[in-house]
Amino acid sequence: MEKRQELYAGKAKSVYSTDDDDFVILCFRDDTSAFDGEKMEQLSRKGEVNNKFNAYIMEYLEKAGIPTHFESLLSANEALVKNMDMMPIECVIRNVASGSLCRRLGVKEGQELSPAIFEFFLKDDALHDPMINEYHIETFSWASKENVITMKELTFKVNILLKDLFSEAGMILVDYKLEFGVFKGKVVLGDEFSPDGCRLWDEKTRKKLDKDRFRQGLGGVIEAYEEVALRIGVTL
Ligand code: 5GP
Repeated sequence: MEKRQELYAGKAKSVYSTDDDDFVILCFRDDTSAFDGEKMEQLSRKGEVNNKFNAYIMEYLEKAGIPTHFESLLSANEALVKNMDMMPIECVIRNVASGSLCRRLGVKEGQELSPAIFEFFLKDDALHDPMINEYHIETFSWASKENVITMKELTFKVNILLKDLFSEAGMILVDYKLEFGVFKGKVVLGDEFSPDGCRLWDEKTRKKLDKDRFRQGLGGVIEAYEEVALRIGVTL
């Protein structure tokens, strides 16, 4: 399918229209950002690695019964996806304490969280993606009550599936963020799943293999992403 007009340029991906209103093309760029866009760099190969990684995960989830927007890989850094109405909400699940949870609550990084913690954030860089709850979502009409229930259920189902997938490859799924949209009335997983939006640690050494390498200036960012991809069987 042909790329037409650029509809939207996010921090790491651009969205293009196609000649079919039901589908758009996601273009994964090498741009890498952290701290709501305050730290920005180009990391060679990132677009390609994340595109292929995301395709693998989305197909894996789809096969396991999670509705996703993913249709097909179009090129090294492009994918065809369903054109959805995105809900401006980030759904986060945490299996191990890290990141903003530690900063907010003074919890020690690495503490196992049982049961896993679910959090909603508003997708708004200017406001630094503030934490919200079901009441904010309903009052401000960011999503319907039924869609909130579905998003939460799907995010927990993804946790079971992906914790196992990464565990079999010797990694701990520490936490992750999902975004959902509505396509023809149905809640569907959108955006991307890649080491940009999750935390993955090596099970034995606890080495960070995700975007925290970029956020914390640890180096070897793309090498870590490629290692994760190869470990779970993504063809790069
Ligand atoms: P935290 O709240 O600890 O910063 O993030 C929790 C999880 O969600 C992490 O895996 C983090 O990568 C992901 N996450 C949260 N907000 C964003 C965001 O705006 N963009 C991306 N790519 N990931 C996010």
